[in-house]
Amino acid sequence: HIGELRPQIRQLDEAAINRIAAGEVVERPASAVKELVENAIDAGARRIEITYADGGKTLIRVTDDGCGITPGDLPLALSRHATSKIDGSDLLNIHTFGFRGEALPSLGAVGRLTIASRAPDADAAEMTIAGGTPSAVKPTALNGGTVVTLRDLFYATPARLKFMRTDRAEAQAITDTVKRLAMAEPHIGFVLRDVSGGGAGRTVFRADPETGDLMGAMSQRLTRILGREFTDNAIAIDADRDGLAMTGYAALPTYSRGSAVAQYLFVNGRPVRDKMLTGALRAAYRDLLSRDRHPAAALFIECEGRLVDVNVHPAKSEVRFRDPGAARGLIVSGLRHALAEQGHRASSTVAG
Ligand code: ADP
Ligand code: MG
Repeated sequence: HIGELRPQIRQLDEAAINRIAAGEVVERPASAVKELVENAIDAGARRIEITYADGGKTLIRVTDDGCGITPGDLPLALSRHATSKIDGSDLLNIHTFGFRGEALPSLGAVGRLTIASRAPDADAAEMTIAGGTPSAVKPTALNGGTVVTLRDLFYATPARLKFMRTDRAEAQAITDTVKRLAMAEPHIGFVLRDVSGGGAGRTVFRADPETGDLMGAMSQRLTRILGREFTDNAIAIDADRDGLAMTGYAALPTYSRGSAVAQYLFVNGRPVRDKMLTGALRAAYRDLLSRDRHPAAALFIECEGRLVDVNVHPAKSEVRFRDPGAARGLIVSGLRHALAEQGHRASSTVAG
């Protein structure tokens, strides 16, 4: 009888809901690093230190000197859909990396997460959440800012554990993630260290805070991360159209690459991987590069919040423009124009 086969509908418990959400937010150690570093940036940190061991599988720790969290707010920070960053009324006017209130509870559902924090004029406190089970808040010692320690990522979800790649590949993804965020935030200092095997570890990447105005700081930061060779072989870009603005650097066709690895795209300060935008970048160089060559570029697109939706995917690495044609047009025409101008003055280097 068909009625006996009818499955019962039940409400999932909080731990199960968090594990499901974690599947979207936390794909691999690098996604955990991204969420934690973005939280540090949102907290107004000037210096952020990231350490990891074994490709981030056993340990990820992010230390910042930002605004901190009061002991009373710690349980909220670790609960789902709790955020200090939006009030929910205007999802198109977001000025922080975070807003979904999902990262910390998700990480605490699939790993062992401890957050220690101290807000000005408040006591330092810490709280742990492991496999979705939260502990009580207890006092700790900390001068200020926040330290988030994530151990044994995916221990609570063995299926996901199997999908992790080699330590080396995961460490590479972490480095790439940190460098992209460091490009977007030139006034913040970043240190990335691999502490596998214990001890002080090995510095993988370091960028002290850049000084000066945003454009100056940005070009110094790009030089530091991508190398002087990149900035020496790139043209400064400054274009706008239809309410969208684009700044950054695009490499000369002679400095192209065999793969698309050196393409860094940002929308309103957020690193994005977006097929439409990379397609536009390709199109801009179409007549200048053979099919197997890829342009190198770091491009920052800025526009009013209402012209772009960042709430497309839980990891927020995709965006949706209200007028995709305008965004494509800005990239294609802005870059073609700059490259053509460069062609007329072939002997002068612009970016050096
Ligand atoms: P979201 O970033 O979307 O708000 P999270 O789960 O990442 O959600 O963080 C929840 C809340 O915890 C944040 O809104 C913020 O108030 C607080 N928080 C998280 N990390 C930090 C940090 N490093 N410094 C200060 N506050 C933090
Ligand atoms: Mg966050």
